[in-house]
Amino acid sequence: MENSFKRFAGQLAEFIDVSRDGYAIFSADDILLCANKAFLEVFFRPETELIGQSFVEIMHTAFRTQKGPRIDADNIDSWLNRIQQLRRSRDFRLFEVDLVDGRWFLFSEQTLPGGEMLIQAKDITKQKIVEQHLNEHTRRLTDLALTDELTQIANRRSFVASVQAEITRCSRQRCAMAFFLLDIDHFKNVNDSYGHQAGDEVLRQVARLIKSTLREYDIFGRIGGEEFGIFLAQTNRDTAVEVAERLRQQIADEKMHIEGRELRITLSVGIALARDKTSFEQLYADADAALYQAKHSGRNKVVVAEYCVIL
Ligand code: GH3
Ligand code: MG
Ligand code: MG
Repeated sequence: MENSFKRFAGQLAEFIDVSRDGYAIFSADDILLCANKAFLEVFFRPETELIGQSFVEIMHTAFRTQKGPRIDADNIDSWLNRIQQLRRSRDFRLFEVDLVDGRWFLFSEQTLPGGEMLIQAKDITKQKIVEQHLNEHTRRLTDLALTDELTQIANRRSFVASVQAEITRCSRQRCAMAFFLLDIDHFKNVNDSYGHQAGDEVLRQVARLIKSTLREYDIFGRIGGEEFGIFLAQTNRDTAVEVAERLRQQIADEKMHIEGRELRITLSVGIALARDKTSFEQLYADADAALYQAKHSGRNKVVVAEYCVIL
């Protein structure tokens, strides 16, 4: 029995020696006792240099020479402090490590009751590349699903979702909210006079202009056709009117260059205000009613929904 185990252990050692997976054993006081070729290759160092070194020394050299694991830190000592707290924190740990040369390894650390640690490092570079492609693909698909193709701003679906999330947050904190509905005046005339392509270009330019005037955390999206929405958190009536007026004026002043021709357009804006519980539907309905008034009182105007609480 004992003999057959010895034979097995001997064969295992032969396999480990040629394995593509790295194997190493650290002593209880963290000195590297032995390692196979694949493990030495992770650090690009010969056996004579690595064996007998402490974990801390090995990582210091890896950091200094930029060979081996990628260490994203300015200060190696504080990085090591953090890592040392994780090491031996459990009998068994599994974690991914990326190397400076672009390879990825799945490391496992198994600690024996006496404190010695067996490390296994499996090359997972191929899987990582597939995973990164998949993530990138998913990110692009998500972007496509959330972005309006023509204007490259949020589409209706993602705009409504963002606004709903902000309404929930604002309602909880009882902060003032303002919602603008913006609609290009006589846009049909642009299409009729200059063609649909020119109309598309106007929509792109209007979206770009509006976006450039907003703050990063303001929510802006294309609701449909030539209608845009803006949601401003922590914005009272006076500020909302000021922002909308500035926007309206900016668009009205802009000379648009469409297919070699100069064009001017105007916007009408309906504003809804809220502080307590509300919904996207409620804000939209209020802003739409205000927009209707703006259109019927001459266009190129900002109107606040009448029945909104004065804040
Ligand atoms: P009002 O001042 O009352 O808003 O008049 P309007 O002409 O802007 O409004 P109306 O609703 O009568 O017309 C909107 C036009 O917008 C009609 C539609 O063909 C055009 N439109 C909607 N989506 C697009 C688009 O993606 N590209 C282009 N070029 N035109 C669009
Ligand atoms: Mg219109
Ligand atoms: Mg419209």
